[in-house]
Amino acid sequence: MYILQCWIEHPVRTLDQTFTYLSETEVLRGCRVRAVFGVKSLVAFVGDCAYTEETRQQIERRLGMKLRMIDEIIDERPLITDELYEMALWMKETTLSPAISCFAAMLPAKVKPAGGERKIVMEKYVSVSDTETNLTPKQLSAWLYVQEHQPLLYSDLRKEFPNQARQLVEKNAVTVFEKEKRGSVKFTAGTDEKPQLTDLQKKVIQEIESSADTVYLLRGVTGSGKTEIYLQLAEKVLNEGRQVLILVPEIALTPQMIERVSARFGSKLAIYHSSLNPQEKYEQYRMVMNREASVVVGTRSAVFLPFENLGLIVMDEEHDSSYKQDSQPCYHCRDAAVFRAQYNHCKLILASATPTLESYARGLKKVYHLIVMDERINQTLPSVTIVPMRQSIRNQESYILSDALKEKITERLEKNEQVILLLNRRGYHARLRCRHCGEVIRCPHCDLAMSWHRDSGKLKCHTCGTEIYLPRTCPSCGSREGFMPYGFGTEKLEQEVRTFFPSARILRMDADTTSRKNSHEKILRSFADHEADILLGTQMIAKGLDFALVTLVGIINGDDGLARTDFRSCETTFDLLMQASGRSGRSKRTGEVVMQVFDPDHYAVTAAAAQDYDAFFTQEMHFRHSGQYPPYTYMIAVTFSSVKQDETLQKAQVFKEGLTGSFKVIGVISLLKTHDLYRSRIILKGRNLDEMRAALRDMMAANPNLLKGIRIDINPMYLD
Ligand code: ADP
Ligand code: ZN
Ligand code: ZN
Repeated sequence: MYILQCWIEHPVRTLDQTFTYLSETEVLRGCRVRAVFGVKSLVAFVGDCAYTEETRQQIERRLGMKLRMIDEIIDERPLITDELYEMALWMKETTLSPAISCFAAMLPAKVKPAGGERKIVMEKYVSVSDTETNLTPKQLSAWLYVQEHQPLLYSDLRKEFPNQARQLVEKNAVTVFEKEKRGSVKFTAGTDEKPQLTDLQKKVIQEIESSADTVYLLRGVTGSGKTEIYLQLAEKVLNEGRQVLILVPEIALTPQMIERVSARFGSKLAIYHSSLNPQEKYEQYRMVMNREASVVVGTRSAVFLPFENLGLIVMDEEHDSSYKQDSQPCYHCRDAAVFRAQYNHCKLILASATPTLESYARGLKKVYHLIVMDERINQTLPSVTIVPMRQSIRNQESYILSDALKEKITERLEKNEQVILLLNRRGYHARLRCRHCGEVIRCPHCDLAMSWHRDSGKLKCHTCGTEIYLPRTCPSCGSREGFMPYGFGTEKLEQEVRTFFPSARILRMDADTTSRKNSHEKILRSFADHEADILLGTQMIAKGLDFALVTLVGIINGDDGLARTDFRSCETTFDLLMQASGRSGRSKRTGEVVMQVFDPDHYAVTAAAAQDYDAFFTQEMHFRHSGQYPPYTYMIAVTFSSVKQDETLQKAQVFKEGLTGSFKVIGVISLLKTHDLYRSRIILKGRNLDEMRAALRDMMAANPNLLKGIRIDINPMYLD
């Protein structure tokens, strides 16, 4: 008899432990089984399996409890490796999440613990069988076709030989069998050539290869050749027979990046990101598991792919907030990558032009091996002009495009070069205010201002996606006086650009124009092929793009982000300005950048204009120190949500009073309602993260009745 320790798929935190079941046959760790829990049949994940000579009765007597047999083994082979199993338990401890939620975060939806019902898609194949049969000449040519192409998709045979396919099967001339569907993730292989490395690049590679350190922080300005460095490091690792994982932010997984990597590593490459459908994700997961892929380029969750012999992990744009998951388990991909690098004894390279302050501080303290690259490959940084908008508006210039920017756009268009315009807000008008009471129209579910989209003629909530038609009367005061527009987004910018540059060819890229699959890729390809002169859009055009003809980048409302109340708002503003500037003048032509801002003297603006990370870092560290924010402290945000506001406040208050230690507890504050849920939050802030975690763990164990709707975010990215 085998005694199994199983993690039950159950959302209740109080059940976060293994349960014991029995099985006649051995079940490997990481396989799913079906078992009855209480009165329900549930899917469980096997943690341990121990053999014993005892009978069921003997075991039950020894353990002093009744045990159930499992009903069914779902997987023949484990879905996760020992490494991933350990990682799940590590994640459970470090993020204070239920183990089952960690397993669920790691696995593609098709094989998530609860996903047991979902069907794996099978395809029919044919191959020739040995039996000699009498075939007509036509059937024979079909048979020969199968022989030449086997294993051949049955549907393909039907296409080629619509009349003969069935006959071959009936005559047993071919055998039909089923295989899991594969290979539906397609990408265009690029033709990028491997350049001769510069002296600096060679030096960096040598420094990394000759060092025994595990984690490297490669800070290099945009265009300094970082990508080239890790592609060449990856090549060596692959030649040693080990695997490579390249992590990229959600948005930077551009066709350009995929082309560049696929040009080097072609058939060995798998791609993993959030817009793959469940079937596609499952296929990629299998490809890694079966070692058909040895290089993966992927977003956050790719860090959980079942590699068995990792030789290198790269995390590109390490500062990007999409590396943090904002639902339970709120893990940071960087921490997971460090875990895997240590487990596999391989190197992890964190690369960015603007590392997070946390990482850079670790670099300076030598926790990470810091390497700095200050020069661009083409030796020239773009020249930056700051346009103070208060002044240009006073001069009666357009509040969207200043005269200075218009002039420069004209110049570039005349030279037949390309322009990128960034405005980090989509929609037409940012919001609508009632002419009578002045209230903005808010989402009925979220307490947040809705944006007016002229393309669809609707108001949209960018948080929950609700769309409504423009109301006739003001939702706040009932007045019929109508609404006043306030602020503007990319739709309005597009209209403005068309008005001033009627003959320019314009592309817009934002969440509204890229909602369809591959639309993102189409827009970029079209711009790369110079089918357009101006590309305008939200932050999704600020990152990772490399177009040789782009010589002007205009950033509209560049310091909009400073108005946020978050402790990271200066950092994110600086990052955006730096990243956007990095798109200009990347090849032989020198580039220019225009930053339209309202606060031209803010250090986030001046440092970005000077492309000076160190200057920004020094100033920002003063600010973080005075407010005792990260990296000087750690934080844990504990949020309670419910449809009843009182309930969230009460729970948060109980936690606030019960949590004590060498840390502060800030709050209780009420957050804006989102998705119809009220939220109350406290924040733990202190220097000893382990102590804070332990206190919170004890508090949760002592108050199981308060845990419904709790969300724990260790080192949250944002607080607003
Ligand atoms: P980063 O990742 O730092 O932004 P990239 O590696 O993308 O920099 O390099 C910037 C540009 O310079 C790219 O177009 C790349 O193809 C080119 N490049 C990189 N290294 C070299 C080199 N050694 N010689 C010539 N061109 C290079
Ligand atoms: Zn009103
Ligand atoms: Zn909403």
